[in-house]
Amino acid sequence: MAETGQARLSMPIHGLSAYLLNHIGGVMIILLPRKIATQRGIVRYFNGKPCINGHIAERYTKKSFCVECSREALRRHLSIESNLKAHNLRGKKWRESHKRESAFFVKQWQERNKERFKSLCSRWKSENKDKVNTYTRNRRALIRGSDGAHTADDVSRILALQGHRCAICMTSIKDRYHVDHIEPIVRGGSNGKDNLQVLCPSCNTSKGGKDPYEFAATLGRLF
Ligand SMILES: [Zn+2]
Ligand SMILES: [Zn+2]
Repeated sequence: MAETGQARLSMPIHGLSAYLLNHIGGVMIILLPRKIATQRGIVRYFNGKPCINGHIAERYTKKSFCVECSREALRRHLSIESNLKAHNLRGKKWRESHKRESAFFVKQWQERNKERFKSLCSRWKSENKDKVNTYTRNRRALIRGSDGAHTADDVSRILALQGHRCAICMTSIKDRYHVDHIEPIVRGGSNGKDNLQVLCPSCNTSKGGKDPYEFAATLGRLF
Protein backbone atom coordinates (compact mmCIF):
# COMPACT_ATOMS: atom_id res chain seq x y z
CA MET A 1 0.00 0.00 0.00
CA ALA A 2 2.70 2.36 1.04
CA GLU A 3 4.57 1.31 -2.07
CA THR A 4 1.76 2.46 -4.30
CA GLY A 5 1.85 5.85 -2.63
CA GLN A 6 5.60 6.14 -2.93
CA ALA A 7 5.59 4.96 -6.53
CA ARG A 8 3.48 7.97 -7.37
CA LEU A 9 6.34 10.23 -6.37
CA SER A 10 8.42 9.07 -9.31
CA MET A 11 5.68 10.06 -11.73
CA PRO A 12 6.43 13.04 -13.93
CA ILE A 13 4.03 15.54 -12.47
CA HIS A 14 4.45 19.24 -11.96
CA GLY A 15 4.33 20.15 -8.30
CA LEU A 16 3.37 17.88 -5.48
CA SER A 17 0.22 19.85 -4.69
CA ALA A 18 -1.80 17.21 -6.51
CA TYR A 19 -1.03 14.72 -3.81
CA LEU A 20 -2.60 14.46 -0.42
CA LEU A 21 -0.88 12.82 2.48
CA ASN A 22 -2.89 10.35 4.48
CA HIS A 23 -2.46 7.69 7.09
CA ILE A 24 -3.73 4.17 6.53
CA GLY A 25 -3.04 1.60 9.20
CA GLY A 26 -0.24 3.71 10.65
CA VAL A 27 1.54 3.98 7.28
CA MET A 28 1.76 7.33 5.61
CA ILE A 29 0.71 7.14 2.01
CA ILE A 30 0.29 9.65 -0.73
CA LEU A 31 -3.02 9.98 -2.47
CA LEU A 32 -3.78 11.22 -5.94
CA PRO A 33 -7.48 12.03 -6.13
CA ARG A 34 -9.40 10.99 -9.24
CA LYS A 35 -10.52 14.55 -9.94
CA ILE A 36 -6.94 15.80 -10.20
CA ALA A 37 -5.87 12.77 -12.22
CA THR A 38 -8.70 13.49 -14.67
CA GLN A 39 -7.78 17.17 -14.95
CA ARG A 40 -4.16 16.35 -15.67
CA GLY A 41 -4.81 13.40 -17.95
CA ILE A 42 -3.11 10.89 -15.63
CA VAL A 43 -4.35 7.36 -16.37
CA ARG A 44 -4.38 6.11 -12.78
CA TYR A 45 -5.37 7.63 -9.50
CA PHE A 46 -5.05 6.41 -5.93
CA ASN A 47 -7.61 7.02 -3.20
CA GLY A 48 -6.23 4.61 -0.59
CA LYS A 49 -9.61 2.86 -0.22
CA PRO A 50 -10.06 -0.87 -0.68
CA CYS A 51 -11.90 -2.10 -3.79
CA ILE A 52 -14.80 -4.58 -3.47
CA ASN A 53 -12.20 -7.36 -3.41
CA GLY A 54 -10.16 -5.70 -0.68
CA HIS A 55 -7.21 -4.43 -2.75
CA ILE A 56 -5.81 -1.10 -1.70
CA ALA A 57 -4.47 -0.36 -5.14
CA GLU A 58 -4.49 2.25 -7.87
CA ARG A 59 -7.63 2.69 -9.98
CA TYR A 60 -7.93 3.54 -13.64
CA THR A 61 -9.03 7.14 -13.91
CA LYS A 62 -11.49 6.52 -16.75
CA LYS A 63 -13.81 3.98 -15.17
CA SER A 64 -12.54 3.62 -11.60
CA PHE A 65 -11.58 -0.04 -12.12
CA CYS A 66 -9.13 -1.42 -9.57
CA VAL A 67 -5.74 -2.02 -11.22
CA GLU A 68 -5.08 -5.14 -9.17
CA CYS A 69 -8.52 -6.63 -10.00
CA SER A 70 -7.84 -5.91 -13.68
CA ARG A 71 -4.48 -7.63 -13.39
CA GLU A 72 -6.06 -10.71 -11.80
CA ALA A 73 -8.78 -10.81 -14.44
CA LEU A 74 -6.14 -10.62 -17.17
CA ARG A 75 -4.14 -13.42 -15.51
CA ARG A 76 -7.27 -15.62 -15.41
CA HIS A 77 -8.06 -14.79 -19.03
CA LEU A 78 -4.52 -15.60 -20.20
CA SER A 79 -4.37 -18.88 -18.30
CA ILE A 80 -6.45 -20.28 -21.18
CA GLU A 81 -4.03 -21.24 -23.94
CA SER A 82 -6.09 -19.91 -26.88
CA ASN A 83 -6.53 -16.55 -25.14
CA LEU A 84 -2.81 -16.32 -24.50
CA LYS A 85 -2.04 -17.03 -28.16
CA ALA A 86 -4.50 -14.38 -29.36
CA HIS A 87 -3.12 -11.92 -26.81
CA ASN A 88 0.47 -12.47 -27.91
CA LEU A 89 -0.49 -12.15 -31.56
CA ARG A 90 -2.28 -8.86 -30.91
CA GLY A 91 0.81 -7.65 -29.05
CA LYS A 92 3.08 -8.67 -31.91
CA LYS A 93 0.91 -6.84 -34.46
CA TRP A 94 0.78 -3.75 -32.29
CA ARG A 95 4.57 -3.73 -31.86
CA GLU A 96 5.04 -4.06 -35.62
CA SER A 97 2.79 -1.11 -36.38
CA HIS A 98 4.01 1.01 -33.43
CA LYS A 99 7.77 0.54 -33.61
CA ARG A 100 8.65 3.84 -31.94
CA GLU A 101 6.20 3.53 -29.06
CA SER A 102 7.18 -0.08 -28.61
CA ALA A 103 10.89 0.76 -28.43
CA PHE A 104 10.07 3.47 -25.89
CA PHE A 105 8.16 1.04 -23.63
CA VAL A 106 10.90 -1.57 -23.92
CA LYS A 107 13.49 1.01 -22.91
CA GLN A 108 11.41 2.12 -19.95
CA TRP A 109 10.98 -1.49 -18.83
CA GLN A 110 14.72 -2.10 -19.18
CA GLU A 111 15.51 0.89 -17.02
CA ARG A 112 13.10 -0.21 -14.31
CA ASN A 113 14.34 -3.83 -14.43
CA LYS A 114 18.08 -3.49 -15.00
CA GLU A 115 19.12 -6.67 -13.22
CA ARG A 116 16.38 -8.80 -14.75
CA PHE A 117 17.16 -7.40 -18.19
CA LYS A 118 20.85 -8.22 -17.76
CA SER A 119 20.15 -11.81 -16.76
CA LEU A 120 17.62 -12.25 -19.60
CA CYS A 121 20.23 -10.96 -22.06
CA SER A 122 22.94 -13.31 -20.89
CA ARG A 123 20.50 -16.24 -20.91
CA TRP A 124 19.44 -15.42 -24.47
CA LYS A 125 23.09 -15.08 -25.55
CA SER A 126 24.07 -18.43 -24.06
CA GLU A 127 21.08 -20.11 -25.74
CA ASN A 128 21.73 -18.42 -29.11
CA LYS A 129 25.49 -18.59 -29.49
CA ASP A 130 25.28 -19.15 -33.24
CA LYS A 131 23.24 -15.97 -33.68
CA VAL A 132 25.60 -13.95 -31.48
CA ASN A 133 28.64 -15.25 -33.42
CA THR A 134 26.97 -14.52 -36.75
CA TYR A 135 26.21 -10.99 -35.59
CA THR A 136 29.85 -10.51 -34.50
CA ARG A 137 31.20 -11.84 -37.83
CA ASN A 138 28.90 -9.62 -39.88
CA ARG A 139 29.76 -6.62 -37.77
CA ARG A 140 33.52 -7.21 -38.00
CA ALA A 141 33.32 -7.75 -41.75
CA LEU A 142 31.39 -4.52 -42.13
CA ILE A 143 34.02 -2.61 -40.15
CA ARG A 144 36.73 -4.07 -42.38
CA GLY A 145 34.85 -2.93 -45.43
CA SER A 146 34.04 -6.41 -46.68
CA ASP A 147 30.87 -6.92 -48.72
CA GLY A 148 28.20 -9.54 -48.18
CA ALA A 149 26.47 -10.84 -45.07
CA HIS A 150 25.10 -14.16 -43.87
CA THR A 151 22.65 -15.50 -41.33
CA ALA A 152 22.86 -18.13 -38.59
CA ASP A 153 20.67 -20.32 -40.83
CA ASP A 154 23.27 -20.09 -43.62
CA VAL A 155 25.87 -21.46 -41.20
CA SER A 156 23.53 -24.31 -40.16
CA ARG A 157 23.06 -25.22 -43.82
CA ILE A 158 26.84 -25.23 -44.45
CA LEU A 159 27.35 -27.44 -41.38
CA ALA A 160 24.76 -29.91 -42.73
CA LEU A 161 26.31 -29.81 -46.22
CA GLN A 162 29.73 -30.66 -44.78
CA GLY A 163 28.17 -33.46 -42.74
CA HIS A 164 29.34 -31.73 -39.55
CA ARG A 165 32.97 -32.39 -40.45
CA CYS A 166 35.90 -30.00 -40.75
CA ALA A 167 36.39 -29.03 -44.41
CA ILE A 168 40.15 -29.58 -44.10
CA CYS A 169 40.87 -32.51 -41.80
CA MET A 170 37.38 -34.08 -41.91
CA THR A 171 37.28 -34.51 -38.16
CA SER A 172 33.85 -34.32 -36.54
CA ILE A 173 32.90 -30.78 -35.50
CA LYS A 174 29.59 -31.56 -33.87
CA ASP A 175 30.69 -30.06 -30.54
CA ARG A 176 32.86 -27.17 -31.62
CA TYR A 177 33.46 -25.46 -34.93
CA HIS A 178 34.79 -22.21 -36.33
CA VAL A 179 33.21 -20.43 -39.28
CA ASP A 180 35.97 -19.61 -41.75
CA HIS A 181 36.09 -17.20 -44.68
CA ILE A 182 37.56 -19.32 -47.49
CA GLU A 183 39.14 -16.26 -49.07
CA PRO A 184 40.10 -14.36 -45.90
CA ILE A 185 38.48 -11.01 -45.28
CA VAL A 186 41.96 -9.46 -44.89
CA ARG A 187 42.56 -10.51 -48.49
CA GLY A 188 39.36 -8.89 -49.66
CA GLY A 189 37.19 -12.00 -49.37
CA SER A 190 33.43 -11.60 -49.15
CA ASN A 191 31.45 -12.13 -45.97
CA GLY A 192 28.62 -13.73 -47.97
CA LYS A 193 27.57 -17.34 -47.39
CA ASP A 194 29.33 -18.55 -50.58
CA ASN A 195 32.71 -17.67 -49.09
CA LEU A 196 32.12 -19.62 -45.86
CA GLN A 197 33.14 -23.04 -44.64
CA VAL A 198 33.25 -24.63 -41.21
CA LEU A 199 36.50 -25.86 -39.72
CA CYS A 200 37.67 -27.49 -36.53
CA PRO A 201 39.26 -24.91 -34.19
CA SER A 202 42.82 -26.17 -34.80
CA CYS A 203 42.57 -26.08 -38.62
CA ASN A 204 41.04 -22.64 -38.46
CA THR A 205 43.87 -21.36 -36.27
CA SER A 206 46.58 -22.67 -38.60
CA LYS A 207 44.78 -21.35 -41.69
CA GLY A 208 44.31 -17.86 -40.22
CA GLY A 209 44.56 -15.15 -42.87
CA LYS A 210 46.58 -17.25 -45.32
CA ASP A 211 45.78 -17.50 -49.00
CA PRO A 212 43.47 -20.55 -49.34
CA TYR A 213 45.47 -22.00 -52.28
CA GLU A 214 48.85 -21.53 -50.64
CA PHE A 215 47.46 -23.01 -47.44
CA ALA A 216 46.09 -26.05 -49.32
CA ALA A 217 49.52 -26.50 -50.91
CA THR A 218 51.17 -26.58 -47.48
CA LEU A 219 48.87 -29.52 -46.69
CA GLY A 220 50.00 -31.26 -49.86
CA ARG A 221 46.69 -30.59 -51.58
CA LEU A 222 46.22 -29.11 -55.04
CA PHE A 223 42.46 -28.29 -54.70
ZN1 LIG B 1 -9.32 -4.90 -6.63
ZN1 LIG C 1 40.25 -29.59 -39.08
